Amino acid sequence: MTDLPLAAPVDLLGRPLRDLRVSVTDRCNLRCRYCMPREVFGADFPFLERDELLTFEEIERLVRALTDLGVRKVRLTGGEPLLRRDLPDLVARLTRIDALEDLALTSNGVLLSRMAGELAAAGLRRVTVSLDALDDATFRAVSDTTIPVQAVLDGISAARTAGLDPVKVNAVLQRGVNDDQVEALAGWARELGVTLRFIEFMDVGTTNRWQRDGVVPAAEVAERIAARWPIEPVDPEHPGEVAERYRYVDGAGEVGIIASVTRPFCGTCSRARLSAVGELYTCLFAAEGHDLRSLVRGEADDDALRAAVAGIWTRRSDRASELRAQDGLQGPRVEMSYIGG
Ligand code: SAM
Ligand code: SF4
Ligand code: SF4
Repeated sequence: MTDLPLAAPVDLLGRPLRDLRVSVTDRCNLRCRYCMPREVFGADFPFLERDELLTFEEIERLVRALTDLGVRKVRLTGGEPLLRRDLPDLVARLTRIDALEDLALTSNGVLLSRMAGELAAAGLRRVTVSLDALDDATFRAVSDTTIPVQAVLDGISAARTAGLDPVKVNAVLQRGVNDDQVEALAGWARELGVTLRFIEFMDVGTTNRWQRDGVVPAAEVAERIAARWPIEPVDPEHPGEVAERYRYVDGAGEVGIIASVTRPFCGTCSRARLSAVGELYTCLFAAEGHDLRSLVRGEADDDALRAAVAGIWTRRSDRASELRAQDGLQGPRVEMSYIGG
């Protein structure tokens, strides 16, 4: 691992800036009920206009500035990142940044069978696909879509064929909605050799009607998996790893659980998010971001950009998940489809 640069800022809780999520669009071809409920994100929703979005040149410049400050891992996300026209061109630009150790992409997988080859050719090495159910009716209900789950499964196969391996699969669980899918998803992932991670349903944004009793606690998920296939905990690979990892005792790989609600991990959170219009968010639950687009579109040189970001990061004290009250977070906060999950 590359050493942190001398100028690397730490925040008020001593956390460095290591990870960046870059949202390339706020649009999506699914309407997952927990993320973009159709009654809010309908035909009239004012999605961003193209000229508001950061260009690929602007994203590259900002990523370079952030790598100078310590960022080593970038994940492209959205909305659905594969809807952004010419996305492989952005991948190619970012893979040329030497200081970047890891470039990944999170996608709902619907367009992956069409695009996996091109993304791999542009230099992408790995992809995370979100898949909340194997059962077709459950998948369509969760994602509020007529697209069959087979499209996502085909996308995952295409990614593996293209060499975007290991594919990781993320599944958000909601009580009474898809929590009956735990064993089916785990069994499928074991057989296929993909790494599966279950994620607790979070109160991101203010439109998804989150309630605490909708969360399936990580401890329960681990117990259910262990009852079927014995598992043992695995030590984290690096500090700040968000997934609690378990190894199948029979050697069939690993499964992870991200306990964002029941066991928050703010203490090691080194992640910033860049919205599609160039606002930097220092927490998933922030109400507002810091405008960097006016700097990249203005006169600011790279020193000024770095100074602005370092200033933002050194004043950071976010730990929203640790402070979450029993009934969830209060007050305004940004939607996940806007800043990128
Ligand atoms: N559209 C892409 C996808 O679905 O993978 C990328 C963006 S999506 C916002 C990124 C991740 O956030 C997905 O894995 C999704 O399941 C997760 N997510 C969205 N809303 C969530 C919520 N309320 N709680 C937990 N995870 C959520
Ligand atoms: Fe779209 Fe991803 Fe949100 Fe689902 S989770 S609505 S696929 S952005
Ligand atoms: Fe990081 Fe904010 Fe999530 Fe805590 S709540 S882990 S500070 S993004």
